[in-house]
Amino acid sequence: MFGMGTKNIGIDLGTANTIVYAEGKGIVLREPSVVAKNTKSGEIVSVGSEARDMIGRTPASIVAIRPMKDGVIADYDTTASMMKYYIDKALGKRGGKPYVMVCVPSGVTEVEKRAVVDATRVAGAKDAYVIEEPFAAAIGAGLPVMDPTGSMVVDIGGGTTDVATISLGGIVSSRSIRMAGDRLDEAIISFVRKNYNLLIGERTAEQLKMDTASASVEAAKELDKQSIRGRDLVTGLPKTIEIEAESVAIAIQEVIQEIITAIKETLEETSPEIAADVIDHGIVLTGGGALLRHLPEVISDATKVPVFVASEPLDCVAIGTGESLKSIDVMKKN
Ligand code: ADP
Ligand code: MG
Repeated sequence: MFGMGTKNIGIDLGTANTIVYAEGKGIVLREPSVVAKNTKSGEIVSVGSEARDMIGRTPASIVAIRPMKDGVIADYDTTASMMKYYIDKALGKRGGKPYVMVCVPSGVTEVEKRAVVDATRVAGAKDAYVIEEPFAAAIGAGLPVMDPTGSMVVDIGGGTTDVATISLGGIVSSRSIRMAGDRLDEAIISFVRKNYNLLIGERTAEQLKMDTASASVEAAKELDKQSIRGRDLVTGLPKTIEIEAESVAIAIQEVIQEIITAIKETLEETSPEIAADVIDHGIVLTGGGALLRHLPEVISDATKVPVFVASEPLDCVAIGTGESLKSIDVMKKN
């Protein structure tokens, strides 16, 4: 039995965002997965949105770290500290030790899974369990995961795009590629550097992506151009330029094509029955990347399958992880 006030919680430990779901309450916290540390003492300066605003702006004495990279733990100690901070914040000081369900990308190694479980225990969990991200995303998107009907979910986060077909409570086939939101930002940075001799920061690129990027070059012609600031690589001085939405769309094309290839390959290896179910019900997109303009149409054109964006795509994994907490009680008895 666990004490008064102790709750089971679900954590979507994403590369870009960490979302905490408390049983009986729903989502109680949404913060960027960023930690700012003092480089000398190792002391944590700030966590979350405050730390994110420091990216690219830190003095030598501070470093802003994204401890999750490509969907897995890149910096173990910082991840554990970040999770501890978020668990405490979500539950309050007198919350007691919770049982925690954490999601991991599909296809991670046992070692990587172990690291997530251990970090969650270090962060204060009484015990920790993992759920595969696409499965959680599908639950959160309201797909009939337990039914004998195939569903396909594509979760496009910061570090990874996870593609999976699901039926009868399990993942039938899946792929996880390290091509998602961060790669889109990097593609924009490198395009702007090559074509305008302008160096822009990560946050500027991400903002440009959210404001004007389109998965379709054709449709981007209708969008307004945008002004961006950075450092001129020739003069070394700050500079503002105007960039066409069409150029931004061209910049990200390669990454979009890689995501489409992963979806096609996953479709190609599913059974004819599941493929037929997916044609009937469509592909569902989750994760922040699902919000990219014209992405559903572009994927649909390439695959000849209807594509939908889940409602609240950024929250699907957290909701699904939270829903699956019900199964913790079952697991504990084993
Ligand atoms: P993770 O699960 O890896 O933490 P999320 O599902 O939280 O990732 O999605 C974060 C990613 O989604 C980031 O790369 C962010 O730039 C991107 N994103 C968020 N909103 C939008 C938008 N409106 N258009 C395009 N990309 C977006
Ligand atoms: Mg995610």
